[in-house]
Amino acid sequence: MSSIAIEEGVLLSRYTTIGTGGPARWFAQPRTLAELEEALRFAGERGLAVATVGLGSNLLAADAGVDALVLRLAGELAEAGVSDALLVAGGGAANAVCLHRARAAGLGGFEFACAIPGTAGGGVWMNAGAYGRDWSAILVRALVATADGMGWLSPAELGLSYRHSGLGHGQVVARVEYGLQPRAVEEIKAEVAELVALRKATQPTNKRTFGSVFKNPPGDHGAGRLLELSGMKGHRSGGAVVSPKHANFVENAGGATTADCLAVMAEGRRRVLEQHCVELEHEVVLLGDIELPAVR
Ligand SMILES: Cc1cc2nc3c(=O)[nH]c(=O)nc-3n(C[C@H](O)[C@H](O)[C@H](O)COP(=O)(O)OP(=O)(O)OC[C@H]3O[C@@H](n4cnc5c(N)ncnc54)[C@H](O)[C@@H]3O)c2cc1C
Repeated sequence: MSSIAIEEGVLLSRYTTIGTGGPARWFAQPRTLAELEEALRFAGERGLAVATVGLGSNLLAADAGVDALVLRLAGELAEAGVSDALLVAGGGAANAVCLHRARAAGLGGFEFACAIPGTAGGGVWMNAGAYGRDWSAILVRALVATADGMGWLSPAELGLSYRHSGLGHGQVVARVEYGLQPRAVEEIKAEVAELVALRKATQPTNKRTFGSVFKNPPGDHGAGRLLELSGMKGHRSGGAVVSPKHANFVENAGGATTADCLAVMAEGRRRVLEQHCVELEHEVVLLGDIELPAVR
C-alpha cells in the first residue's frame, strides 16, 4: 500500500516561474527520504524516467507534457536548519529559507544567492551563482538518491563548473550541507539589501521569467549584451517577449507557451551567430521532448 500520493497528468505550468509547461505523466511530492525512495521504486518498477523540479526557476517544460515521474521535494525535504557551522537543507529548500536560517544563526557566505529564486537541489544541478560566487564555493556535500540507492557526493564528484553539474535526470539531490562562516547579522542584512537593489535596477524581477536564457560565452560581451546588440529587446513570439530591461530574460507577457519561449530563443541565437559569430548555449533546462533548432 503506497503512502505517497502519485498523481497523473499534473500541469507543470503550476510549478515553473515562467508559467508554461504541459502535464507530467506522473507527479509526486515526497516529504521524507522514505517517501523519496518509494517514489523512485515506483518509477523503477515501471521503467519510468525521473525528473525533479525545484522552484522551476530555470526550467522550460514541453507544452506536450513530460513522459516521466516528476518529483517536487516537500515537507522535511524542503526544510533547512543550522547544525554547528553547517547549514543543512533538504534538496527542495528554497534559497530564501536557507538564507533566513543562515542569517538567524549569524552565518555568512550564502548572501550571493539572495536573488536566485531556486532551491538547494536546483542550485547544485545548475551550480547556480551570482556576483562571482557559486554553489561550488559553499557546498560541502550533497546526498543524491537514485533508483539504486543514495549516497553523499562531494563537489568534485558532482562535477560542478560554470552553470553545470554532472548530474543527470534520475539523480535527485535530497539533502545538502553548506559550509558557512560566522558573520555579523547586520553585515549580512546590509549586503543582501545592496545585492537585491542591484538586481531590481538591472533585471525584470517583477515579471514571470525563467532567469538567464543563455550562458555567458567566453569573450568581452555577456549573452545579454550580444542579444541587445542584435536587436532582440522587445522581440516577441505569441505571449513570450524578450525583456526590454535585460535581453537575456524572456518574459511571459500573458498566455505564453513553451513553444513561444523557444521561438524567441531560437531567433536570438540565430541573430547572435549571424551578427557576432557566437553560438549561444542555453542555460535554461529543457524538460521533455523539446530542443532549440540547430543554428549551423
Ligand atoms: C528572476 C530570476 C533570477 C535568477 N537569477 C539567477 C542568478 O543570478 N544566478 C543563477 O545561477 N540562476 C539564476 N536564476 C535561475 C534559477 O533561479 C537557478 O538556476 C536556480 O538554481 C534553479 O533552481 P530551481 O530549484 O528553481 O531549479 P529548477 O529550475 O526547478 O530546475 C533546474 C534544474 O535543476 C534540476 N533540479 C531541481 N531540483 C533538483 C533536485 N532536488 N535534485 C536534482 N535535480 C534538481 C531540475 O531537474 C533541472 O534540471 C534566476 C531565475 C529567475 C527567475
